[in-house]
Formats: sequence, C-alpha cells, structure tokens
Amino acid sequence: LAKGRGKNNYQYYNSSLNKRNIRKVTIENALRKALENDELTLAYQPKINLQSRDIDGMEALLRWKNPELGAVSPSEFIPIAEETGQIISIGKWVLKTACKKNKEWHDKGLPKQCVSVNVSVRQFQHSDFVSTVRSILRDTGLRPEYLELEITESIMQNIKESTEVLKGLRNLGVKISLDDFGTGYSSLHILRELPIDTIKIDKSFIDDVADSAKRSMVRTIIDLGLNLDLSVVAEGIENEQQARILSDYHCKFGQGYLFSKPIYERDFEKLLTVRTPLNVK
Ligand code: C2E
Ligand code: MG
Ligand code: MG
Ligand code: MG
Repeated sequence: LAKGRGKNNYQYYNSSLNKRNIRKVTIENALRKALENDELTLAYQPKINLQSRDIDGMEALLRWKNPELGAVSPSEFIPIAEETGQIISIGKWVLKTACKKNKEWHDKGLPKQCVSVNVSVRQFQHSDFVSTVRSILRDTGLRPEYLELEITESIMQNIKESTEVLKGLRNLGVKISLDDFGTGYSSLHILRELPIDTIKIDKSFIDDVADSAKRSMVRTIIDLGLNLDLSVVAEGIENEQQARILSDYHCKFGQGYLFSKPIYERDFEKLLTVRTPLNVK
C-alpha cells in the first residue's frame, strides 16, 4: 500500500511540476511577442498625502493582456521575465512609457506629479542602466525630479556595485525608493549610507496595523524612516482605520485600495483633472 501511494504521489508531483513548466514556457514565449503586439499597458495608482488626502505622486504598474492567456499578473510574469532577461527590454518600455505620459500630463497643465517606476534587480544591475535612464529622460523631456525608481532590498546582495549605480542615478537627479521595505534584509548601516529618498513599508505590515499587538513594528519602521530624513509611504492601505493609525504615527504618504486601485491612464488623467482629495472622512 505504502509503495502504491508513493508512486501516486510521485506521479502527482511530476504532473503538477509539468503543468508549472508548461505554463512558464507558454508565458515566456507569449511574452517574447508582447511588446511588438502592443499587449502591454501601464496602470497608475495614486500616492496620497494621508493628512490632506490629496494626490502626491503615482506609481506605474505593468499590465499584460494576451489573446490566449488573458490577463497575466505581474507577480507571475515579472519573475519569469527576470529569469529570461526579457525584463531588460520590457523594463525600458515601462520607463519610457511612464516618463512620456508624465511629461504629457505636465504639458497639458495638470498638477505636476512624480511618477514611480518599479525596477527589477536584473534591470538595475544591467551595465547600461544609468545611461538608459539618462537617455529616456532626455528623449522624453521629463525633468529628473519627476521620476522615482522603486528598487527592493534584494539589490543589497551586491552592495558595492549597487551603491555605484545609486550614486549614478542620484547624479542624474532622479529619486530612489526602497520598495516592500521590511521584507528584505537591509541593515541600519546600509540604510544610512545609501542615497535613498523614500521607503515604502510593505503591505504585510500595514495589514497588521489593525491588530494592536502587532502595530508597534510599523511605528518602529516609520520612526526609523523619519529619523533618517526619508519620505515614508505605506502600501496596501485598505481601510480607514489603517489610514488613521498610520497618519497618527506621522507616516505622511499612503497607497491602497481605500483611495484607488491602479487605473488606466485615461481614468488617472480624470483624477488629476478634478483634483478632489480622495476618500476624505
Ligand atoms: P509593488 O511594486 O509592491 O506594487 C504594489 C502591488 O500591490 C501592486 O500589485 C498593486 O496593484 C497592489 N496593491 C496596491 N494597493 C493595494 C491594496 O490596497 N490591496 C491589495 N491587496 N493590493 C494592493 P501588482 O500591480 O499586481 O504588481 C505586483 C508586483 O509586480 C509589484 O509590487 C512589483 O513588484 C511588480 N511590478 C509591477 N509592475 C512592474 C514593472 O513595471 N516593472 C517591474 N520590474 N516590476 C513590476
Ligand atoms: Mg512598487
Ligand atoms: Mg511595494
Ligand atoms: Mg509589495
């Protein structure tokens, strides 16, 4: 009996592994044509000043809709694109598209916002990343202070090289944000030394803020950021209680479904046009 079960388990394991691999290869192949077939778009999620509830920036988030696969989540296809190196060309497209759109909004006379763009480790470590950013800024005409790059703590694995890249970006005048903060392993020392402007507290900590026994961690992270003179953003705010507690703890900025989901450019433009504070209570 034990033997039989073992065999079944093996077959089960084997077939689910196969399914995963097939899905991965399918995504990889479809992704290869996604750019030329115009299947990629950007959604924008506002960043909110938690006190005034005004929009104070936005994050560009990649969306992919394929005719066969339907909508595929970035959490699924970005890691694959990283593995295959496709992230280099996709990442350039994201940067260019976000900068171009932001400049267009500035030229239309809408309130000037800074756009935050997610950058994957592989992209960040690619030899000509700094010059890519430089030429995109030049080509689109967006002023560097209106671009923020979101990187994760995983770049710390190559602390020396990463510091050089960060300095190069700093020289260009763009801002740097440490995304998903608290889930990685940056030491306090590194945090103090690196040219960083912003930390984004990971959603997992924001989820905990409603729980009085768990909220002290969030408070500690906010204080750390403020002590280092960093701008502090809370990500994944879903309810008013969380927003209030974070604001009471002097966290200045937040993002989350409470204010707005990521929305397509036309809707975001409307949001910028009406300029009403979001979800004022
Ligand atoms: P992230 O940069 O940490 O982005 C935040 C994610 O949380 C987004 O998911 C956003 O839609 C979602 N989110 C925002 N507010 C809430 C909320 O209140 N509740 C919940 N449940 N979720 C919320 P999304 O768009 O699926 O992106 C997932 C991840 O994929 C991003 O995490 C980022 O790491 C990566 N990603 C997205 N676009 C790009 C891109 O253009 N380039 C790179 N390299 N990575 C990207
Ligand atoms: Mg992000
Ligand atoms: Mg994040
Ligand atoms: Mg996150």
